[in-house]
Order: sequence, then structure tokens, then C-alpha cells
Amino acid sequence: MSQKKRMVVIGGVAAGMSAASRAKRRNPDLEVIVLEKTEFISYGSCGLPYYISGLIDDHNKLVIIPPKVAREKRGIDVRLQHEAVEINTTEKTVRAVNRHNGQEVFFPYDKLVVATGAGASRPPIEGMGLKHVFVLRTLNDGVALKSYLKSGKPKRAVIVGGGYIGLEMAEAFSAQGLQVTILEKLPSILGTTDEEITTIVEAELERNQVALYKNANIVAFEGNASGEVTSVLMEDGHRFETDLILVATGIKPHVQFAEAAGIQLGPTGAIAVNEKQETNVPDVYAAGDCAEALHLVTGKPAYIPLGPTANKQGRVAGENAAGGFGIFKGIVGTSVFKTFDLEVARTGLTATEAEREGFSFVTSTITDKCCAGYYPGASPITIKLVMNQENGRLLGAQMVGNHGVSKRIDVFATALFKKMTVEEISQLDLSYAPPFAPVWDPILIAANIGLKALKK
Ligand SMILES: Cc1cc2nc3c(=O)[nH]c(=O)nc-3n(C[C@H](O)[C@H](O)[C@H](O)COP(=O)(O)OP(=O)(O)OC[C@H]3O[C@@H](n4cnc5c(N)ncnc54)[C@H](O)[C@@H]3O)c2cc1C
Repeated sequence: MSQKKRMVVIGGVAAGMSAASRAKRRNPDLEVIVLEKTEFISYGSCGLPYYISGLIDDHNKLVIIPPKVAREKRGIDVRLQHEAVEINTTEKTVRAVNRHNGQEVFFPYDKLVVATGAGASRPPIEGMGLKHVFVLRTLNDGVALKSYLKSGKPKRAVIVGGGYIGLEMAEAFSAQGLQVTILEKLPSILGTTDEEITTIVEAELERNQVALYKNANIVAFEGNASGEVTSVLMEDGHRFETDLILVATGIKPHVQFAEAAGIQLGPTGAIAVNEKQETNVPDVYAAGDCAEALHLVTGKPAYIPLGPTANKQGRVAGENAAGGFGIFKGIVGTSVFKTFDLEVARTGLTATEAEREGFSFVTSTITDKCCAGYYPGASPITIKLVMNQENGRLLGAQMVGNHGVSKRIDVFATALFKKMTVEEISQLDLSYAPPFAPVWDPILIAANIGLKALKK
């Protein structure tokens, strides 16, 4: 009788649990073991800002597949508090440490999926270790932050970093009644959008009494005798008094022990994979925030770590590891977030990125209404297009407005995926009714104005 084949997955959130679930569905006879170093699997980190804001009252509601359900209904052997520390690709084993009792456990594998995700980056600022200095990446981070909001009743929050998580959290802290200050090191917040969009977002922060300081050089976080943070000292000598700090300066892929095992990293510093999610090591796959993805606009590997990519890559890794055939074609860099009353979205390349990639391009920006002008609540929507001057193809789109942004950006994402020209986009048969769009949808207006810019 042949022995059961075994797949080991390292990491139990979006990519890891997608891989495990898919593999088990594809081949129910496969033994699937998930090693997760924390006590949580399969949760929506994306929902953390709404748990902090109070919109979601219980962190358990963010859990999608509880361990018991994964074990009993899906047949996945979930090992919580098991941290993988070494992969031996010759002997095909993973060495893990059981954090309950400190014991070492070896897991032989036939197929391995690395889905270790990423960790919040912790800049080397003096005072990072003070009490009430937080990062927000894991469910545990969210629980710790929320618990301090409840017990410590802070009144002021400093957010270091003006990226999308910083801005989502500005709204969350404001909803909790905190006075919010954002400190951004660069001359602009949101490295992912161009100035035309960013200025509208900055105005929204101001409208909501969020203080924003750009070109902000932090020297240290300062604390009191009890080791609690009390202020942020700036290079110019200025001090921001605060009761808590959230450091939201980006993430770094968890790749150290994969790299040590000879699994190749790509140019972005994340694990290099092909369209089957295979790494350079036979029978080892990688997926999610620890891995790169092919950018379909530039044709190069990119690191744009987001939820849908993690889920899709995990599914493909699981399918292939279980003996099936799955392909992940790539990404076009689509994302959306909300801060206060604004929806902010992008797909493809910004002008800054198109320039860096050496494209010859033109841009155009329009502002129109999200729905029929006479319909109550009609509000402005601004769209910037970046277009390839040589062949008229769309290179990227950015959008901001109070309503109707999040799904409109998907039209441009689809156009990028199919390498459509701006002329083709201008011909799209899009839906219309007064509550949802004007007769000429802002997408079509943006494309028509874009065409004029291309013809100049
Ligand atoms: C606050 C917040 C808001 C977000 N909002 C959005 C959004 O709106 N839209 C969007 O698309 N994306 C969003 N994201 C990003 C999205 O959550 C991630 O892309 C997604 O969670 C990645 O899943 P993953 O499984 O690849 O990695 P992770 O979620 O990082 O999970 C990796 C898991 O691996 C475990 N692990 C790591 N090393 C080991 C080891 N050695 N042994 C065992 N286990 C290990 C970790 O403990 C972790 O549980 C948000 C993220 C955050 C933090």
C-alpha cells in the first residue's frame, strides 16, 4: 500500500489557508499540515481598522475559518503556535518549534508551500520599545491596540507614515474621539498616487481635523519614568505630545529562513515565483505577501502585497502542489481604500512610476459627477489617466471621490489586464441610471479627454 503524500504549509492566513483548502479539495487523500506561529489562522487583517474604529465590535468576527472548522470540516491539520525555523530542501523536512512547550518538531514533506506573509517594518527610531508604541499587522496587534484604547483612554494619537494603513487608521482613531497627527517623512503622503489625487486626500484630512506634517524627520520617541510614550521629538526640535504612536511605515516580506534554505529571492526582495507559484527549489511553492508577482503592465516582477493576490496565489500553489494545474497570470497593481468620506483607488502605473519605467506617456485628469447631476447626493469624482503615447494603451488610472470609486477602478483594471487602448475604453458599453452614473459615465469622459491628450 502506498503511503499518503504530505503537503506542509508554513503560514495560516490568506495565502496559506487558500493553498491548504484548495489542495485538500483537489486531492482529499493528501495529508495537509498548516504550521502557524500565532494562535490565529485565516482572518481578515484588512478589517482591523474597522475593529479599532468600533464598527466591528469583536475581533473574533474577523476570523474566516476557525481552526476547529479547518480541522473538522476541511480535514486540514492545523498546528497553532508552531513556528517553522528551518527548511531542509535536500531531506525535504521543516523544523518547527512548538511555542507551547519549546519542543522541536520535524515535518517531512512531499510538497511545501511557503506562505509566511510579511511583518510590519520597524524603523530604527530611538524609543520604538516604549509602551503604547504600536504597529498594526496581525490580529494580535489589533487586539493589543484596541485593549489600550479601552483601558488607557488615550486622547491623542500620532501616526507615523501616510500610506493607506496610516490613513485608514486616522479615520479609526478619529471615530474613537482621538486627536490625530500624521507624520510623513516624504514630501507627500500616499506614495501610490500622483499629486492631483493626493491633494484631494490631504484636504479631506484637514476637513476632519487631522494634523498632517510632511518632510517630518523624527529623532526619537520619548517616554516617562514608567516607560510609556509621551512625545515625538523632531529634528527641528519640535515635540508632539501624544498618548500613543502607531508606526505604519510599510511591511517587509518574511523570507529569512526561506532564503537560508536556498529559495531564491527576486529583485524586489520577496520570493521569486513562476506562474505556477513554483520557486527555484523543486516541490517548494510560495504565495502571498512573502512572494513577488508578475506585473502585467511593466512585464517585470513586482511586490504589491495585497489580499486578493495572496488568496489567488495561494489557491494556485495549493492546486499545483496537489497534482493539478493552476496558473496565476499576474497583477496590474489595483487597490482601493477609504479615509473618512473619500474612496481612493488606483490601478496600473502612476505618472511617477511610468516615468521610472521609461515609458513615453501622457496624462489627463477630469472631475465629473459620480451620478446624474440632479440626483440628490451627486458628488465629484476625479480620474487621472496615464497613457502610452506610442500605442495609445492605458498604463494606469487613479481615482478619488465620495461615491462610486471602488468599482469604477475595476473597469480600468480590466482594461489593463486586456491591454486595451484608451480609444477602446471610450467605446465601452457601461451601465447608466441616475442614482449610479451620469449618461456619460466619468470613465467614458476620462477616456475621451485622454484621447484628446494623446492626439495633441
Ligand atoms: C491593517 C491592514 C489593512 C489591510 N487592508 C487591505 C485591503 O483593504 N485590501 C487588500 O487587498 N489588502 C489589505 N491588507 C493586506 C492583506 O491583509 C495581506 O495582503 C494579506 O493578509 C496577506 O496574506 P498572507 O497570507 O500572504 O500573509 P499574512 O497575512 O502576513 O500571513 C502570514 C502568516 O504566516 C505566519 N508565519 C510567518 N512566519 C512563520 C513561520 N516561520 N512559521 C509559522 N508561521 C509563520 C504569520 O504568523 C502569519 O499568520 C491589509 C493589511 C493590514 C495589516
